[in-house]
Amino acid sequence: MNDLTAARLNLPGRFGNNRKVLPCLDCHIDTWGEYFIVHHDLWHQAVGHRWGYLCVLCLEHRLGRLLTPDDFLPCPANDPEWRKTDLVRTRMS
Ligand SMILES: [Zn+2]
Repeated sequence: MNDLTAARLNLPGRFGNNRKVLPCLDCHIDTWGEYFIVHHDLWHQAVGHRWGYLCVLCLEHRLGRLLTPDDFLPCPANDPEWRKTDLVRTRMS
């Protein structure tokens, strides 16, 4: 991971190195630090039936618009305090 990616993801140190890598389907950065879940129809629109991860910017690129709070599925994984970059928190609020 280069410095720009690390800075963008603002990875908290407490996770250490013993964690899963969640590579973005498009740009391949590790999305661990900005994990989020969008509504299934939105994911299907952007990705189809493929399973995987997209970073915020690549998902927005595929959709042709910015994410809004209504795009995020109401679930514990989307708690803004849980593994969220400032960018994801901005989109969720
Ligand atoms: Zn990406």
